Amino acid sequence: MISSQSKIGIIGAGTSGSYLASLLIQQGFQVDLFEKAPYARTDGCGILIVQAGMQALHQGNPHITEKIINSGDRVKLFEFRNLRGGVINSEPVTYEANELPGMLVHRKAILEAILDELPPDRIHFNAELASIAQTENSAIAHFKDGSKWEGDLLIGADGIVSKVRQYIVPGVELFYLGDVVWRGVVADNSFCPEGNFFVYVRGRGIYANFFHIGGGRTHWGFFIEKERTDAEVGKLHPADITIPPQELAKLPDDARKVIESTPIESIVCRFSYDIDPLPKIYDNRVILIGDAAHAKSSTRARGMTSGWEDGVCLAKHLASSASIAEALANFQTERLPIVHEYQRTSREMSLKIGRR
Ligand SMILES: Cc1cc2nc3c(=O)[nH]c(=O)nc-3n(C[C@H](O)[C@H](O)[C@H](O)COP(=O)(O)OP(=O)(O)OC[C@H]3O[C@@H](n4cnc5c(N)ncnc54)[C@H](O)[C@@H]3O)c2cc1C
Repeated sequence: MISSQSKIGIIGAGTSGSYLASLLIQQGFQVDLFEKAPYARTDGCGILIVQAGMQALHQGNPHITEKIINSGDRVKLFEFRNLRGGVINSEPVTYEANELPGMLVHRKAILEAILDELPPDRIHFNAELASIAQTENSAIAHFKDGSKWEGDLLIGADGIVSKVRQYIVPGVELFYLGDVVWRGVVADNSFCPEGNFFVYVRGRGIYANFFHIGGGRTHWGFFIEKERTDAEVGKLHPADITIPPQELAKLPDDARKVIESTPIESIVCRFSYDIDPLPKIYDNRVILIGDAAHAKSSTRARGMTSGWEDGVCLAKHLASSASIAEALANFQTERLPIVHEYQRTSREMSLKIGRR
């Protein structure tokens, strides 16, 4: 068995790294979680947590799912609409007694529910990973401020632009999915009833979604097909982040007004990227989870869920394997086919559905 005295370092206190840290601490490991930001990054917008994601969280810690259920809306209805506002398809969602619901919730509430389960002294902020080294029996993380950490296992949960990934599989480029997306959260109860998720299906180069996230707030996402300029290639954000009014005008008036009424400080904008499936996700004592390992298009809403599933799976193998080497090999064998499938189908949906 792997000693519970093993020292495990995790790079990145997003939803994947924080959840895994909480699981490994419960198992008795000596865990340090390193985050480059000066405080927990509770920014972001609304998130659809599919039922598999709630199950992955519940398996590790029912307190987390309880807090999330109390913070957002249970999914009650998916409604697909055309750009004139006509309903194409309406799919009510029902649950058995005691079944975990899919949830519509602000990212901040999710991350806070997870971080609440962590002893504060296990998280180190202002800790930006600079480089990695390994000896036969240890992994070493060097940080920008000159400090270093040495332990038995180093886990990269550092997101789509991952430094740890560069170490394991150098030269991975972000793949541009062809859309720029604006997302926002606005105080609104009237357009989107509680538990409703509206999709304005792709047409005339745009698509959009709206969903209520509890607390009288509505999340929206507005996507425009766009070629990047040469100067924008490799950038996460467009140079001009104004929503083009002629594109917004393609939405029905009621939907457009929800977006227009959103305060500018509550809007974020970025290009949509994923990465190609990686041939491997570990090297000796360094391993990847979450977006660092398998960033994918948001079309199937599997991003956070797959990071939590990674956490549950890695914690299971670390608890049941004879050595770290065996645990990492088993983790990769179990997870790679699953996350590759998520990546492939999410990209296919993003590139094909409704495009001319
Ligand atoms: C438009 C859009 C909509 C989405 N909608 C959904 C949805 O509805 N449902 C869903 O499940 N998913 C959705 N996702 C995906 C989801 O947001 C991601 O999959 C998820 O947040 C990834 O979590 P993570 O912890 O792996 O990475 P991140 O959240 O990116 O966390 C990585 C952390 O690592 C830190 N870090 C980075 N580099 C370093 C370093 N060198 N040193 C130290 N720390 C570092 C970062 O500061 C960050 O805190 C969406 C994504 C997008 C872009």
